[in-house]
Amino acid sequence: MWYNSPMKKKNIIQNATQTALLFLSQYLHPGETAVDATCGNGHDTVALAKLGTKTIYGFDIQPQALDATKEALCREGLYSHHIHLILDGHENMRQYVKEPVQVVVFNLGYLPSSSKEIVTKTETTLKAISEALMLLKEGGLLCITMYSGHPGGQEEKDAVLSFAAALDKTRYHAVYLNMLNQRNHPPEILLITLKRGVGN
Ligand code: SAM
Repeated sequence: MWYNSPMKKKNIIQNATQTALLFLSQYLHPGETAVDATCGNGHDTVALAKLGTKTIYGFDIQPQALDATKEALCREGLYSHHIHLILDGHENMRQYVKEPVQVVVFNLGYLPSSSKEIVTKTETTLKAISEALMLLKEGGLLCITMYSGHPGGQEEKDAVLSFAAALDKTRYHAVYLNMLNQRNHPPEILLITLKRGVGN
């Protein structure tokens, strides 16, 4: 893939999606398990599958999002019985995911081609992040892309950042990336890793 190729060095900080993918690629190894907490159009699920992830649990509350994700995986020849697309809120993820996971991806906000009324919400997002941290393996990564330009987005982002800032520093590293000189509320990224040797 492009991020491993010495010939094609891309400018990975020009776009939040590519930046998030770069981090994911460093934490995920072929054969591992990942969660896409917000499937949407399936771009992140496809990216996880392309990285060689064996088992993927994908969540969305909109059937059309799961259909789009399945189609995107099929188009790339990546759909398999190891990929579980689940029509439920990510705040319930531990009802479905019964194994430790290496990576959990969130892409907050609303589905671009769909109703802006159906959007991730502060309360359920915080619950889902807590659930995700309970599933994370030592050395695993939680990657959250946040948007503040839509109604409720700023409040959600602030709450997620406050939550991350209060995490126990003996167990977690939390890093926040934002595109300082971009306009119109560019996406921002929060990365949380569970340190090795602390148990989960
Ligand atoms: N990652 C997606 C992609 O690659 O296309 C984009 C995700 S979109 C920004 C956010 C998605 O979160 C929407 O599809 C929306 O339906 C979904 N969503 C909203 N609330 C949710 C919840 N409680 N649990 C799971 N998904 C939720």
